[in-house]
Amino acid sequence: MSAPKPFFGANWKMHKGPSEARAFVRAFAGLHRPRPDAAVVFFPPSISLPAFREAAGRDDLELGVQDVHQETEGAHTGAISAGMAADAGAAWGLAGHSERRREFGDDDDLVAAKAARLVEAGLRPVLCVGETLEERDDGRLEAVLRRQLAAVVPTLPGAAARELVVAYEPVWAIGTGRTASPEDAADAHGTVRRELVEHLGPETADAIPIIYGGSVKPHNVDELLAAPGVDGALVGGASLDPEAFARICEAGAG
Ligand code: PEP
Repeated sequence: MSAPKPFFGANWKMHKGPSEARAFVRAFAGLHRPRPDAAVVFFPPSISLPAFREAAGRDDLELGVQDVHQETEGAHTGAISAGMAADAGAAWGLAGHSERRREFGDDDDLVAAKAARLVEAGLRPVLCVGETLEERDDGRLEAVLRRQLAAVVPTLPGAAARELVVAYEPVWAIGTGRTASPEDAADAHGTVRRELVEHLGPETADAIPIIYGGSVKPHNVDELLAAPGVDGALVGGASLDPEAFARICEAGAG
């Protein structure tokens, strides 16, 4: 079985409204040549999805949504549904990002419900998992990853499971400038891969990219992507700068 296609995700969090998204994409498009061997996916704030899509004018820069509501529609002021995100041009959706888990109370059941809504709307989920520093120090890394995956992966219909991407994002490395060592990343990715095999069998599990997130920068992306089992990166801070993210998206190119 060949390795999954490398995946580079840009999680902009609460940065860049429509005007800044347009300016970014024009600059980035001049720096990044299409890479058919990789997926490059931007997760702007949902209000900037249409502006990004119109300014990009090219299909290789894909779009995703950072969060959706767990219902399909209704009286949920301020929320958007997976179907609305699809309508606005998203093909992907994050589920379970640690900032959602921490700030908004997205627990495992809610993450599973949101992943289900993404799949029903035809969006491909990027499931984020990862341990806090306290959990790592207590020796609970493997248990946490297994629990977070077990809550979602078996609930996905078979065809949707094949479309999944898993992002291993140690919480202590997100936005802190601290990065997991390539050995730590390889170790955690091995745990994720084993859990995927347990739920889905080797054929489906081996097709799922497992990407690393947590202070990925131009200067460390090559060694992280060279680590065994690391199939790409989910990038926060460094994805806000067109030059830095364009450099990151060159990692592993032949
Ligand atoms: C993230 O938000 O998913 C992330 C990895 O952020 P940063 O690259 O800033 O650590």
